[in-house]
Amino acid sequence: MKYISTRGHPTKQTFSQVLLSGLAEDGGLMLPETLPKITDAELTAWRDLPYHALAFNVISKFVDDADLPHADLATMTKSAYTRDIFGTVEITPLTSLEKLQQSLWLQGLSNGPTLAFKDMAMQMLGRLFEYELARKDNTLNILGATSGDTGSAAEYAMRGRKGISVFMLSPAGRMSAFQRAQMYSLQDANIHNIAVEGVFDDCQDIVKAVSNDLEFKRKHNIGTVNSINWGRIVAQVVYYVRGYLAATTSNSQKVSFAVPSGNFGNILAGHIAREMGTPIDTLILATNENNVLAEFFNTGVYRPRKGAETYETSSPSMDISKASNFERFVYHLLGSDAERLAALWKEVDRGGSFDLSNTPEFKNLRARFGFVAGTSAHADRLATIRETYDKAGVLIDTHTADAIKVAREHMRADVPTLALETALPVKFAETVKEAVGFEPPLTDSQAKMMRLPQRVTTIGVDVARVKQMIASGA
Ligand SMILES: *Cc1c(COP(=O)(O)O)cnc(C)c1O
Repeated sequence: MKYISTRGHPTKQTFSQVLLSGLAEDGGLMLPETLPKITDAELTAWRDLPYHALAFNVISKFVDDADLPHADLATMTKSAYTRDIFGTVEITPLTSLEKLQQSLWLQGLSNGPTLAFKDMAMQMLGRLFEYELARKDNTLNILGATSGDTGSAAEYAMRGRKGISVFMLSPAGRMSAFQRAQMYSLQDANIHNIAVEGVFDDCQDIVKAVSNDLEFKRKHNIGTVNSINWGRIVAQVVYYVRGYLAATTSNSQKVSFAVPSGNFGNILAGHIAREMGTPIDTLILATNENNVLAEFFNTGVYRPRKGAETYETSSPSMDISKASNFERFVYHLLGSDAERLAALWKEVDRGGSFDLSNTPEFKNLRARFGFVAGTSAHADRLATIRETYDKAGVLIDTHTADAIKVAREHMRADVPTLALETALPVKFAETVKEAVGFEPPLTDSQAKMMRLPQRVTTIGVDVARVKQMIASGA
């Protein structure tokens, strides 16, 4: 299988090559030339597989280069998807929300080490990175900025891994006590937490400034684990197939998924699972007040927002103004027409927008690709968290609440609908308390984590200082 750029650059790459970046030379994103298929016989054979074996079967369809033998891939899926790491044998267990709404289910994706769905892909990515770096006898400095879930998932996936150091910038004093404890309590020598006296954008600007110094970047092997990473996407395809199999008994049945969305990474994996042949009826996309994606699916206009137009909400992991993975979907929407895609993103990269409302592709979008979309706001989250708790006895987090709110507006009673639980409520305790009147109780191990000593270096908005820390390895 070869990977190509959404913007038509002629260079083709292997999985091992796209793994470490995902970005093409022409600024496009890498995608398989043609998507692999899942046959009816495979679906049947996969029904009773443990999660790690299903993960191997799905991911190996995207990997056919000699640099990553399938036997080694199987070793990685087996060590990544264990009960030890994800809390249950099922890995992504289903919980019925029938008492809230007929045919509604919750698929738990947030029982990994950092209690958010980012662990599902990141645990696999840590293993793939370590493998690839050892093969090339190379090292990698992962530099990132986080306001929560991505940074902690990356740190827990990369801790203790040979050849990898993580330098993670976070805005000082702006994460929740739980998030701080989760990240800063890590004592591994290869994990470097850097609190920046500023806001998230300051952190991101530092990352950009360091990455734009190409000589420094090359000399110190700077890399990222952001949401355009292709390894993350393929690992996420697995839980859509698992969710489908867990909610059905025959391949003639269909299910729908409701996905709380920000960078379009999670639901892109759902789109790919559907294109591969998983019998998915509808992909229900939920946004918060930052509704750039819902706007596109409802009007055909894609209008990324400026930073200043991006609201801070109570589902903060979806506070995005520009959906970095969306380009991959639009490429498919346009029938893999790289020239047209490149013209649209020329506008986007210039700070503009595009309008597909009058195109046959947009008019046929729902029938062909199964997408619908809606928006959920703070009051909706509170009401949904409260009602889900009162009627079904299940406590959910704010992002999952957005998914359930929009799911209920679009789902049909005759199609099981799986709302993806993307974080546990304990991560967003303040809003949960606002909804139900109490904070989600901490487990013993979480309470213990809150008391552990923390390891973090606080700095000003200082690019030179960050470079110096990377250069000296501390
Ligand atoms: C990252 C994240 C999302 C959004 O996922 P995308 O892949 O960016 O669309 C939703 N909920 C939680 C809890 C997250 O951490």
